[in-house]
Amino acid sequence: MLNKTKVVVTIGPATMEKEQIKRLMQNGMDVARLNMSHASYNFCTDVIEKIQELNEELHLSIAVMVDLMGPEVRTGTFTNGQAYFRKGDKVRIYMDSVEGDSTKFSVNYSDLIKEVQYNSIIKVKDGLMLFEVISIEKDFLLCEVLTDGIIEDKQSVAVEGVKLHLPRMTKKDETDIVFAHKMNVDFLALSHVSCQEDVLAASDILIGLKNDHIGIISKIENEDAVNNLDEIIRVSDGLMVARGDLGVDIPLERVPGVQKKIIDKCHRAGIVSIVATELLSSMETTIRPTRAEVSDVANAVLDGADAVMLSNETTVGKFPIETLNMMEKIINSAEKDIDYLEFLERHEEKDKDITGMISRSVAECASKLNCSSIIAPTMSGYTARKMSNCRPSCPIIAVSPNPSTVKSLQLHFAVNPVLIEELKDFDKIIEVSKKVTFDLISTKPGDKIIITGGYPFKEVKSTNFMKIEEL
Ligand code: PGA
Ligand code: MN
Repeated sequence: MLNKTKVVVTIGPATMEKEQIKRLMQNGMDVARLNMSHASYNFCTDVIEKIQELNEELHLSIAVMVDLMGPEVRTGTFTNGQAYFRKGDKVRIYMDSVEGDSTKFSVNYSDLIKEVQYNSIIKVKDGLMLFEVISIEKDFLLCEVLTDGIIEDKQSVAVEGVKLHLPRMTKKDETDIVFAHKMNVDFLALSHVSCQEDVLAASDILIGLKNDHIGIISKIENEDAVNNLDEIIRVSDGLMVARGDLGVDIPLERVPGVQKKIIDKCHRAGIVSIVATELLSSMETTIRPTRAEVSDVANAVLDGADAVMLSNETTVGKFPIETLNMMEKIINSAEKDIDYLEFLERHEEKDKDITGMISRSVAECASKLNCSSIIAPTMSGYTARKMSNCRPSCPIIAVSPNPSTVKSLQLHFAVNPVLIEELKDFDKIIEVSKKVTFDLISTKPGDKIIITGGYPFKEVKSTNFMKIEEL
């Protein structure tokens, strides 16, 4: 299945073995995500090394995303990794680190005690567990449990109706950015950004490290970010609809509308969008998803998202590979229902320049002539990104001799990036293109492919040609 919608898979205890990562890579994972709220440096290093080895072995270019914890409040750890809380019980929430159990736990934000009030509702685990503050003591909050349930280590903590005074960039995030840079990862996801300055704080650190290839994905997970979408888009390479935390910070019922708005704005601005969290949740424990979940994945595709993401399903779920296979099946079917020419219309090319006009024509030709593939030889990835934005009906094969360009294209709709030795003479590129198409897609004599790019290859920055070839 050569699907166009990309899949980000979060790696965790359920998928950390090399054999499992290999199966994920062979079954459609485009980007592997490491969640710094949970993963240690040892864990990340181990996983990244396995992916690098497997990329060599399987001739793939699967990318890696480091997802920062961001300024957020989390619980500490529990004896045995979790604790059960019963409705009506009294619980102490400590500002200093303590080992949690059914009577107490700690949080990593010492000012929480100053920023809550009597009767404040503390929401733990994306709002699943609720605690009401009944007394504010010297070093802990005494709370009543409002919902029965289990809390595991390091779960999210928020306070209803209160904007906590968290720092823009934490020490941990800074150290994690340096780590991501040293490990040469491809994407950095920024959690809990609220405005443009939050994103710029991370890019400033990258500039200081002279890193110009990491793609920045801003996670939209609070009301401020929803209100500041346009300015955040201007400084990001992509947005993630982080529905887990978003659904805690804004009323749950607003999430679908906000998701559609984010996908549409990203498409118009020419940056990628990722829909995340709970897409196939029930597959954490059962082999079949619900109808509602199947619909959710399909609708993300039909809305025009570049990528969808798996989280708990693949970090702690019982059926990670089956979940990925299910996701690919739903994507494959939903893509047949996309009206590609309508998508192209939605993307009115603002800058009526040569690149814009050629990309549009290529997408239109590909759909109307029913082409098998579009080949985009590229140094920087520019042509492939433009093509992806035009949402053609066939796969875009981006061939590039630059390994970081190849991996940077893994989140873009329809782009299959392939590493090649060199970009030199035109005839050679056509020969390589035909071979790559043949390897990736089942073609028959007479099938058409379109080659597009900027020629001479290393000299021009714009896209200036298109050529249609019959196989
Ligand atoms: P998280 O982000 O999994 O890092 O919390 C995604 C979300 O909030 O949906
Ligand atoms: Mn989140």
